[in-house]
Amino acid sequence: MTHAHLTRRGFLKWSLRSVGAAAALGTGGIVYVSQVEPYLVQVRAHEVTLPNLPASFDGYRIGHISDLHMGGWMTPAHMETVAATLDTLKPDLLAITGDFIDHMPRSIEDDLKQTLSMFSAPDGVYGVLGNHDYWTDAPFVRRVAESAGVQMLDNAHVTLSRAEESLVVGGVDDIWEHQQDLEAALDGVPQGAACVLLAHEPDYADTVALDGRVGLMLSGHTHGGQVRVPLRGALILPALGRKYDWGMFNVGGTQLHVSAGLGMVEPAVRFNCPPEITVLTLRRA
Ligand SMILES: [Zn+2]
Repeated sequence: MTHAHLTRRGFLKWSLRSVGAAAALGTGGIVYVSQVEPYLVQVRAHEVTLPNLPASFDGYRIGHISDLHMGGWMTPAHMETVAATLDTLKPDLLAITGDFIDHMPRSIEDDLKQTLSMFSAPDGVYGVLGNHDYWTDAPFVRRVAESAGVQMLDNAHVTLSRAEESLVVGGVDDIWEHQQDLEAALDGVPQGAACVLLAHEPDYADTVALDGRVGLMLSGHTHGGQVRVPLRGALILPALGRKYDWGMFNVGGTQLHVSAGLGMVEPAVRFNCPPEITVLTLRRA
């Protein structure tokens, strides 16, 4: 909305609200958005019904984290509490949907490796790259993540088996940088298979839904907007994350989970949008 489109009364109201918000923020508010809420990691849970989920995967639990953005504000010490929380949640599999780093200080290799090595799950830890990984150093992130035991799904999938039944877990490489190849990621996956896809940018769900094979897509990228105003939602969202900004969506039959992420981009503040760890429990229809 521009001022030109506001009536005088509307403009006064808008100005008063802005001044009110700034005053309410004050010193305490600034401390809250920069020093408090960014550390308030929430655990969220969703049940996702997949019509074609095999019986042996009913109740299967996927841990989902995203957007660590190691190197700036994010430290291994902070991630220790995240890893400890994940340990108590005990998901069957852990998915990390990109933006592992966005700064490249000298210590980042040790910090990233130490952080990712803290994560484990019985069926493995899987990851895809995000735009910030590409903008920093994609081959570096891939190498360090794999050395820490994260299996990178660069336009690839794995098939998990239980009692001769299968769950496909695939991933596409970063969409912003045009590295995605859904055909390659799902090569050989038959229609009707139970299939989960990791993809950093959530608005790609529109394309994924057209393919028809993915029952659940996991994304990050938006950080939920970092700042969410009650009744209005996110104030600022990145490209490829403006349609599906945070939470669960049904996109033409493909269910989509968009994580608010763990880290931040500048300005490093969060309001009404704390970092999150999500556990998605798969249910058979
Ligand atoms: Zn990010």
